[in-house]
Amino acid sequence: MKKITRKDFLRLTGLSFLAAGAIEATRAVTGQSPSAEPSAANQKAQTVRWGMVVDLQKCQKEKGCDACIRACDSAHNVPQISDPKHRVKWIWTQPFKTVFPFSRSSYAEQSDANIPVPLMCNHCDSPPCVRVCPTQATWKREDGIVMMDWHRCIGCRYCMAACPYGSRSFNWLDPRQALAHINPDFPTRTKGVVEKCNFCEERLADGLSPACVGACPQKALVFGNLMDPQSEPRKLLRKRFAIQREPELGTGPSVYYLV
Ligand code: SF4
Repeated sequence: MKKITRKDFLRLTGLSFLAAGAIEATRAVTGQSPSAEPSAANQKAQTVRWGMVVDLQKCQKEKGCDACIRACDSAHNVPQISDPKHRVKWIWTQPFKTVFPFSRSSYAEQSDANIPVPLMCNHCDSPPCVRVCPTQATWKREDGIVMMDWHRCIGCRYCMAACPYGSRSFNWLDPRQALAHINPDFPTRTKGVVEKCNFCEERLADGLSPACVGACPQKALVFGNLMDPQSEPRKLLRKRFAIQREPELGTGPSVYYLV
């Protein structure tokens, strides 16, 4: 019997996935799915939900700082590709005005509009990327981390279409060719798979905080359990005004920005 290659599989399954995936992706992004909100039962059962708070005031103190990005890239063997068409990003920055276009007064200082905001996967409470994945290569753990299994990823990129935050990157090129140093403790990826921030789940398993959190010289990134009222993120969220990326989509981001 002829062996079915990965290419054959994609061709055979492509059409049916295309129809189902496109419908689900549209629903997911527009928030029309009735399952967009976490159920009350789920919320009761959950005792850990990892989340990140980014203090933008602290973050801006060190101009041009990219310590969080470098630490993340090096910990996770993120390929360094400068061509924006092929770039792979786990943490990246964008100007405030493009990330939060409706959260800024027109009377604010013009310079504030361009402050770089660190962005990453939001580890959404109701992740549309998970709903559209045809092979369950991406899934949400009980502690809220949205995971990726690169061995199961067939490169269909439905997750990228469904993610409203641009948090996923596709390896158009062989990522191993774009690594100056390889961290032997973390897997490298292959051409043709999607990747994204994993909230350093491998470090959490060892009782460590995410690499970006430890690397930030201003301690602008604070990570912890959002279900614990005494956790550092919860204390900050009680005291300071915080915004999330496009909360109106109903995805429930686990990343908050103190402004
Ligand atoms: Fe998925 Fe995007 Fe939400 Fe991350 S930010 S969980 S990739 S929808």
